[in-house]
Amino acid sequence: RQGEPDELLDGLNPQQREAVVHRGPALLIVAGAGSGKTRVLTHRIASLLRAREAWPSQILAITFTNKAAGEMRERVQQLVGDSARGMWISTFHSACVRILRREADQFGFTKAFTIYDSGDSRALIKRLVKEHEADALGLTPASVQSRISKLKNELADADSFARDANMNDPVERMFAELFRDYQRQLQRANAFDFDDLIAQTVYLFRAFPKVADVYRKRFRHILVDEYQDTNHAQYALIHELTRPVQSSDDVGGGMLALMDEAEGASLTVVGDSDQSIYAFRGADIRNISEFERDFPGAKVVLLEQNYRSTQNILTAANSVISNNFDRKEKRLWSDQGDGEKVIGFTGYSQHDEAQFVADEIESLRRTGVDYGQMAVFYRTNSQSRALEEIFIRSAVPYKIMGGTKFYERAEIKDALAYLVSVANPADEMALRRIINRPRRGIGDVTVENISGFAEREGITFRDALGRYTELGFGPKIQGAIAQLHGVLVEAQEILLPSSGEAPSPVSVAEGLQVLLNKSGYLDALRASRDPQDEARVENLDELVAVTREFARNNPEGTILDFLTEVALVADSDDLDDESGSVSLMTLHTAKGLEFDTVFLTGVEEDLIPHRISAGEPGGPQEERRLFYVGITRARKRLYLSLAMTRAQFGEVTVAMPSRFLQEIPADLIHWRQSPGDVNGRGGSQSRALNARRPGGSDRWGATPLAPGGGLKPKSTAMDKFPGMVTNKVRDNGDLELAAGDRIRHDDFGEGRVDAVTGEGAKRIAHVRFDSAGAKKLLIKIAPIQKL
Ligand code: ATP
Ligand code: MG
Repeated sequence: RQGEPDELLDGLNPQQREAVVHRGPALLIVAGAGSGKTRVLTHRIASLLRAREAWPSQILAITFTNKAAGEMRERVQQLVGDSARGMWISTFHSACVRILRREADQFGFTKAFTIYDSGDSRALIKRLVKEHEADALGLTPASVQSRISKLKNELADADSFARDANMNDPVERMFAELFRDYQRQLQRANAFDFDDLIAQTVYLFRAFPKVADVYRKRFRHILVDEYQDTNHAQYALIHELTRPVQSSDDVGGGMLALMDEAEGASLTVVGDSDQSIYAFRGADIRNISEFERDFPGAKVVLLEQNYRSTQNILTAANSVISNNFDRKEKRLWSDQGDGEKVIGFTGYSQHDEAQFVADEIESLRRTGVDYGQMAVFYRTNSQSRALEEIFIRSAVPYKIMGGTKFYERAEIKDALAYLVSVANPADEMALRRIINRPRRGIGDVTVENISGFAEREGITFRDALGRYTELGFGPKIQGAIAQLHGVLVEAQEILLPSSGEAPSPVSVAEGLQVLLNKSGYLDALRASRDPQDEARVENLDELVAVTREFARNNPEGTILDFLTEVALVADSDDLDDESGSVSLMTLHTAKGLEFDTVFLTGVEEDLIPHRISAGEPGGPQEERRLFYVGITRARKRLYLSLAMTRAQFGEVTVAMPSRFLQEIPADLIHWRQSPGDVNGRGGSQSRALNARRPGGSDRWGATPLAPGGGLKPKSTAMDKFPGMVTNKVRDNGDLELAAGDRIRHDDFGEGRVDAVTGEGAKRIAHVRFDSAGAKKLLIKIAPIQKL
């Protein structure tokens, strides 16, 4: 039911209301986490629609993930009903794809362009680096890729780079060549990489003002969420769109429209510079701080009340972020009461930590907390593995947002490459990917021969395949190529029935099945005895299911629509959900979301702040913002956990508590097991306790202190550690230990050292205890004695 306009304003505080009802060219809403920024955007859109100040088609709202876009659309629909359908609520990338799909033929591409994800462009760059022997100059595919990406985010293209670079430097010259070649290959393949989607749209608008005017006339209200994470290219795009219409000759719609357009679209942006976490991708906080300069007369609204979290969680977040020095102090407050304390836990290993998380989840579940309202965060994708293993064993239902993405699996990429080969025959890379999958006896030499033929004849690689009789191969290879060509043609008739014109709605599922079956791809997997191949067949079934679902949701959908949707599936979009499972994700993916209970895991030096941030200017500060983002996702309960040892890349390393933990006032954290408890108090013992007292939520707190006290260490990294119980840690100085030595441990008794690894303060003894089993101990502080 559509209610009175006022209904929109109920449940908003005065500042939020002001932001919803304000009208004018530019509005900036700056506020801390959970203060209702996204909510204000949503209500503002609804208010424009309700008051009939804008048609849905005149609104462009930009969110950071597709998932956020979906949520916003749903919320607006709840507020104003189905009229919300024609709105563009999308990410920067999908908005640009929509524009490019309409306009690409203005500048040498076709509407059927392919979108290269980062893996695709990496593969292409790898090939170029090899061809140019650029590795001899120290240029790696990864470094070239990230540099090109940064340049594109700055709107620098290959030409402008070549103009500005020092071409006397051989490395710079080589890079310029790679950049240019890469761009040429993309164009030849009728493809855009992710950064191009935005940069090329900006170029398009600048080169073709009339095209830009179409969108300037259309979008009268532009709203951008998470503005702090826009990079220069995105900023320029917004600028282009909000400029007044340039060419006045063909403006229709009468005086009113003319006057409106003379003013440019109204722009609303919301953001929080404390949550800027994409500087590494070129995001620029200055976009926020300079907003008032860029849009003179902009109205600024500040929001200060946090509606998401309890005061304890907020105080923890505030204390951490206040350590960043380049920020404007803002104090968020909450009227939800202190709530529970933050819970801290230190595991002996990451498995121990994961077990704690799983046990807590289960005991919360027993008190009625939905799995769907719990989330586990980590800094890097690889940390999910230990959690997953334990969750599977403990039967905790979970979903990974991002991570090993379905669409990154080889068989899925193969299947999509088949579809792309049909939809965009210019895409040579897709064709090269599948030309010998399944094995058809077409090796590299054959591929190069085909490529040479295409070059000599001035035709595409795809067209060369069609002329298989002229390629000069023996009957076996010719037969294989003919067969592949035949399958592609057959699928083309299904997927592009009106070849040449705009693609029409088709059954992508049918086309995909033809490709997978008749190419022999599925048969090859089925014939294999490798159990992994069985899983691959299942994944392909899943992909067919995806195409069916796509058809249900988009009765008018074309093959291009399908490929667009797939290419844009952003990190957080694998999951839509489903209250039935715990969400696992990286801190980056967590942005903008909220959960009743949050487990922030791996709170260790080298993870958060991440090791790679140390050398980056502003790196540690950005890591602190990331930590802040993580904390502020929690509504009611926040867990901070870490492990003392962590196995990564086949090596066990000793982990130190993150410096950010020290920034939280000690009295806000209740340690179930503090870092000081751990050395000498192995996880196995805690688990034993756990087994004796199942279900008790305070069972970890029952870990007794180590007997005998031991010496207070003079200064360890944990000395100043809040909540740490120092009397359980020894300072063993440089205790000499070697394989074969026998030791006595305060708790585990006697044992024999199998090996010593690591160096200095991080030396670890691998000990086989006579009765307590194998343990790894941090020699410097474990309560041990050499016998
Ligand atoms: P973030 O910085 O994390 O993106 P945000 O500022 O966008 O946060 P929202 O997600 O819009 O904040 O709001 C946080 C929570 O507070 C949401 O659950 C929202 O519904 C709720 N909320 C916001 N404003 C109010 C209000 N005036 N009354 C009640 N609840 C509110
Ligand atoms: Mg938000």
